[in-house]
Amino acid sequence: MSAEAAYDFDLFVIGAGSGGVRAARMAAAAGARVAIAEDRYLGGTCVNVGCVPKKLYSYAAHFHDSFDDAAGFGWQLPSPATFDWPTLRDNKTSEIKRLNGIYQRMLEGAGVTLFNARARVTDPHTVTLSNAEGDVSISADKILLATGGWPWVPEFPGSDLALTSNQIFDLETFPERFLVLGGGYIAVEFASIFNGLGSETHLIYRGDLFLKGFDQEVREFTRDEMAKKGVKLHFAANIARIEQSNGALQVALTTGETLEVDAVLAATGRQANVTGLGVESLGIALNGDGKLPVNERYETTVPSILALGDLIEGPELTPVALAEAMQLVDIHFHQKAPRPLNYDTIPTAVFCHPNIGTVGLSEEAAREKFDKIRVYRTDFRAMKHTLSGSQERMLMKLIVDDASDVVVGAHMVGEEAGELIQGIAIAVRAGLTKEDFDLTVGIHPTGAEEFVTMRTPSRY
Ligand code: NDP
Repeated sequence: MSAEAAYDFDLFVIGAGSGGVRAARMAAAAGARVAIAEDRYLGGTCVNVGCVPKKLYSYAAHFHDSFDDAAGFGWQLPSPATFDWPTLRDNKTSEIKRLNGIYQRMLEGAGVTLFNARARVTDPHTVTLSNAEGDVSISADKILLATGGWPWVPEFPGSDLALTSNQIFDLETFPERFLVLGGGYIAVEFASIFNGLGSETHLIYRGDLFLKGFDQEVREFTRDEMAKKGVKLHFAANIARIEQSNGALQVALTTGETLEVDAVLAATGRQANVTGLGVESLGIALNGDGKLPVNERYETTVPSILALGDLIEGPELTPVALAEAMQLVDIHFHQKAPRPLNYDTIPTAVFCHPNIGTVGLSEEAAREKFDKIRVYRTDFRAMKHTLSGSQERMLMKLIVDDASDVVVGAHMVGEEAGELIQGIAIAVRAGLTKEDFDLTVGIHPTGAEEFVTMRTPSRY
């Protein structure tokens, strides 16, 4: 009997989110005997209460601008256009059910055994599954923890009245007045979504300017564009308490102001979802951020127990979890040498309105890292808006290390920035120079061509 056959499975994955499912499928394709446990929805946060429904709602919110823009092009629409929340919500739910089914069929098709149960690790090679039928223990050569993250809400009087991103998609009634607390991805995205759908929208952020860690100019530009679209931004403010009265929520801010709204979303970050997983009993300690330390083989301090995605250090992004899953399978099931991901050139998009697309270093980070940089930047009103009448502007920016001429950062705020920055990210990851950008012929007329036509540095 081989060492592997001493166990029920070669790999047991806990959590059927993006990273867990990818790892399970790829390991099974490599010939491993794989099982996965999930006690909630297949597809995890991204499919059910994250990327997918958020993007669908973002599309819905963009129609608002499109209707306004259409008149200048000759279209006449009933004014005002009306929006029906239950239609959007329920169509979204149907689409997610379809995706859940696809995930189930993908796993079954790959030969992965699916357990609908809550799992905890009980020793380095054993997982105990619990559901209504009781407990059962299963052994595996390797156990992969892929339980992702969970929204975290600070405590203040009435904080239980705040919703999280797990609940916001399925509101019974549309909030005519909406407030979001936080200044990260989720806060700016949902402020834009509800503002676009027609809510009076407030964003409350404790710092001077939201989107900490992003390029300063991108942050300022986004602030101005979101404000132009009508989002009411309250910086240097926090929630002191929330009270319920007259069927509404009274939100007292630390600034002394009180806002009456219909829904409050706390978008105050996420924590690694390790509760009840059993890691402490195995002596696996969390680091200061509450994440699981792993080596370049994705092994925790107990080598048979692996972890990836939002459980470990690194950006909390679906494509990062997917990339880690592919790496992990290459290392453990194809015996390849680790090829650590380059976390410095991971592109990202924030689907606020207008969108942000970014890859590589911010201007501030590049100034710290290099002796001298060149900054090429432009902002302009897109051609479309010459007829639409919209005052929306676009920002594009390249950061270049002066000594090597390498483009070390690219940033954009504007329509479809996420779509556009993906291509630029290949160039930045490949380490291409500004000269390579200059030698690339533009596509006319697009906004994107500005990325290859900015010739004069705006500053050094
Ligand atoms: P973030 O970590 O991005 O932002 C959390 C925000 O909450 C920060 O602005 C933080 O302030 C603020 N905050 C933290 N603690 C408190 C407190 N006690 N009182 C008031 N404010 C507080 O988390 P999100 O919840 O927005 O999103 C989680 C992660 O999910 C993101 O970081 C991202 O990785 C991922 N995500 C990605 C998306 C995408 O790819 N488009 C979309 C949505 C989420 P401060 O800045 O001062 O620390």
